[in-house]
Amino acid sequence: MQLHDSLIEPLGVSRLTAPLPFAPEAEPVNFYLADDSQGVALIDTGLIPDDGLDRLVHELRRRGYGLSNITRVIVTHGHLDHFGLARRIQDAAGCPVLVSPGDLPKLGATEHDVRRSVEMYSQYLPRMGCHADAVEDMRQFYHAMNALGEAVGDLTPLRDGEILQFRRFSVEVIPCPGHTSGLVCLYDREHGVLFSNDHLLLDSSPNPFVELDTESGEKRFRSLPEYLRSLDRVEQLDARITAPGHGPLFRDHRRVIALLRRFHQRRQFKIMSALDGLGCADAQTIARAAFSPTTPFGNFMLLSEVIGGLELLEQDGRVRRGLHNGREVYESCPDNARIAAARHTNVA
Ligand SMILES: [Zn+2]
Repeated sequence: MQLHDSLIEPLGVSRLTAPLPFAPEAEPVNFYLADDSQGVALIDTGLIPDDGLDRLVHELRRRGYGLSNITRVIVTHGHLDHFGLARRIQDAAGCPVLVSPGDLPKLGATEHDVRRSVEMYSQYLPRMGCHADAVEDMRQFYHAMNALGEAVGDLTPLRDGEILQFRRFSVEVIPCPGHTSGLVCLYDREHGVLFSNDHLLLDSSPNPFVELDTESGEKRFRSLPEYLRSLDRVEQLDARITAPGHGPLFRDHRRVIALLRRFHQRRQFKIMSALDGLGCADAQTIARAAFSPTTPFGNFMLLSEVIGGLELLEQDGRVRRGLHNGREVYESCPDNARIAAARHTNVA
C-alpha cells in the first residue's frame, strides 16, 4: 500500500519530515513543499525544537530558494506538530498563513489563552472521572507541548471548497472535522492526490481530541461521530495517492477507511463490555477497565477516544448519560430504550 515520494515530485511537491519530541517512537510529522507561481508554498510546517527549520532551509536551497521565497503557509489543522514553525516562517518570509476558521483560534492562542484553556481542562477532566494527579500530569504536558510552537498573529482564513492554485496543480479545501474541529484535507482532483494530514493515516487511528469551547468550557463538538462523517466524505473522493501527515504516502484510501471503521467498532464493543461489567461509571473508569493507558498524555488521548466512543453509543441509543456527584456517568440502556432510540433516529 505504501508509495514512493517520487510519485508526487512531477507535481513539484516534496515531502519533508520532523521528529516528534513528545513521542519519539511515533512516525515523524510530514510537511510538504509545493512549487508556487512565484516561489514555494508550504503545506504544514513541522515544529520548533528540532532541526525542522534547518531541514526546510536545506530543502529550499536545493531548489535555489531561501526562506524569503516562501509564498504562503497552508496549515491543515491546529496541532503544534503541524504549525509550530509557522510564526518563524511568517516572520522570515512575510508570507500569509492560511488556516480554516475552525482552527484559527488554536494558531492564534496567546499565553493568556493557553492558561485559560489549561484551566478549563482542569475543570472538565475531573467531571470525566480523572484524579487530581492525572489532571496535574495533563497540565504539565500541555505547557511542555506549548513550547513546541509560537502563536501566529496574522492569519488568513481558508474557505470551505476554496481552490488553491499551485504552479503545477490545484487543490480543493475539504472540511473534515473530527481530529480537530477545523481540520481540512486538500484534494487535487485532476491528479487524484489527497493531502490527508492526520485525518487519514496508514497505520494509526487519529485521535478524536476533546475540544472545549473557549467561552463555556463545555465540550465543543462530538469529535468521533463528526470524524466518522468526515471519513464518509473522503471515501467519495477518487484518490489515487494519499499524502498523509505522518508516515509514507499510500494508495487505496478506501481500504484504510474500512480498517479505521472496524477499529472504532471494536473499541465500541470493548467500551460496551466494560460498561456491562461496571454497571454505571464515568469515562475514566471505563477507559481503565477497557484499555490500559501508558503515559499521562496517553491517558488523555485514551480518554478522548473513550468519550468519543460513548458519544457514538449514546447517539445509537445504546448508552445513556447522567450526572452523579458532579461526574458525568454512563450506563447501558435496556433493550426497550435502545429500540425507542433507534425508532427516534429513524423518524429523524
Ligand atoms: Zn494532529
